[in-house]
Amino acid sequence: MYTTDGLVLRSKPFGENDRLITLLTPEEGRITVVAKGGRSLKSGSLPATQLFSYGNYEISHRGDYKWIRGASVLRQFPAMTADIAKVSLASYFASVADELSGENEEGGEILRLILNSYHALDTGIRPDGQIKAAFELRAAAMSGFMPELSSCRGCRRESAEVMYLDVMNGRLLCDDCMRRAALISAKEKAASEDIREAEIFLPLSPSVTAAMRYVLNAGEGRFLAFSLDISELPGFCRAAETYLLSHIGHGFDTLEFYKTVKD
Ligand SMILES: [Zn+2]
Repeated sequence: MYTTDGLVLRSKPFGENDRLITLLTPEEGRITVVAKGGRSLKSGSLPATQLFSYGNYEISHRGDYKWIRGASVLRQFPAMTADIAKVSLASYFASVADELSGENEEGGEILRLILNSYHALDTGIRPDGQIKAAFELRAAAMSGFMPELSSCRGCRRESAEVMYLDVMNGRLLCDDCMRRAALISAKEKAASEDIREAEIFLPLSPSVTAAMRYVLNAGEGRFLAFSLDISELPGFCRAAETYLLSHIGHGFDTLEFYKTVKD
């Protein structure tokens, strides 16, 4: 038997009255454990086995499974779980963490990202959209897709009226360089029948560019400590979501669901 801290990412019925739980842990990454229903679990353990609880778990191996013998809550997010939009967003974050974490590999970094994001959703210190976009950018960077946003990749200029995010290459192009690149690519297209790789260029305002730079360079507990004008939020959200999903290579049902319930 051993103990580990962990966050309940998923929970589903298993057998007659047990539950199969996916825990995100610092040392072992994502692990699947069985929580016995009813009396077999130590009393007081039940709250720590609920979805999105962060707790400490006593785990033992028996047969093909790991079993939770007892558990205690370290942190819950009551305001987050009571709000349909916030809890839907929490499910999307859990899907992303599930996708980006592995079994038996270190999971501390993604775990701290998701806990910080849940804390922000729970306390409501930032708009949900800002938390979502910041989470997505940090998650993308963490999984090996850190974009290079310090300057235009063409002329090295650091700011412009509009910067374009070259999503697949994780680079910026200023509007002048973008126009030049578009001319060249039109000529190339005319000269060749090759099907070019899908390219996505998203226009970013100076505020959105600054917000993305901040989020990607901030310390672990500080990545949400910035404010963005509400009018800039849609552009920030679009860039972050497109960036993450393009690199993961697919969408998420939990994200689609969140979009149907957010106001
Ligand atoms: Zn340029």
